[in-house]
Amino acid sequence: MKKLFVISGSSGVGKGTVIKEFLKKHPDFKLSVSCTTRTKREGEVHGVNYFFLTQEEFQNCIKNNEFLEWAEFSGNYYGTKKSFVEQCLENGDNIILEIDTKGALNVKKLMPDAVLIFIMPPSFEELEKRLRGRHTETEEAIQKRLASIKLEMENSKQFEHEVVNDTVDNAVKQLEMILLAGA
Ligand code: 5GP
Repeated sequence: MKKLFVISGSSGVGKGTVIKEFLKKHPDFKLSVSCTTRTKREGEVHGVNYFFLTQEEFQNCIKNNEFLEWAEFSGNYYGTKKSFVEQCLENGDNIILEIDTKGALNVKKLMPDAVLIFIMPPSFEELEKRLRGRHTETEEAIQKRLASIKLEMENSKQFEHEVVNDTVDNAVKQLEMILLAGA
């Protein structure tokens, strides 16, 4: 029985790196590519990191009922396409969705067998340091992201698992224990 795993974590917690390292070792897991209206960061590629849509394109996908879930996060829209998840389940792949906690809880309502995992920073100070160290956001965007952390932590109380990202190696090991046991 193949499984759907949902991984959330605050901005700057390093979940992207942890998931990337996990996927290198476990190619039988597929990562969903979400749609977003946010601007592309340097180095990001359309169709690889995200499908970068205009507001209008995103609204059309909502209207046409193409999303399994979608949410507004920090002033931008993000959504997971139903077609991707259905295709993976048909192909017999394990799927990972890397989405925010609101989206994760919505997926759980629709698919109760989904396993929710929250990646925690070692501390709030460390998280702020990492967020600023990326140099990818304006001060205003950083403030918005810091403000969303409280809500993310609150929502994460409903998650089944918590992984602390103190080092990438440790976090990948913790993730392996959860994902390989659940798949
Ligand atoms: P970022 O802009 O840093 O790439 O992502 C911001 C937040 O949006 C992260 O918490 C990320 O997990 C979340 N996110 C990315 N894709 C989706 C999606 O398809 N749906 C939802 N609900 N959140 C998403």
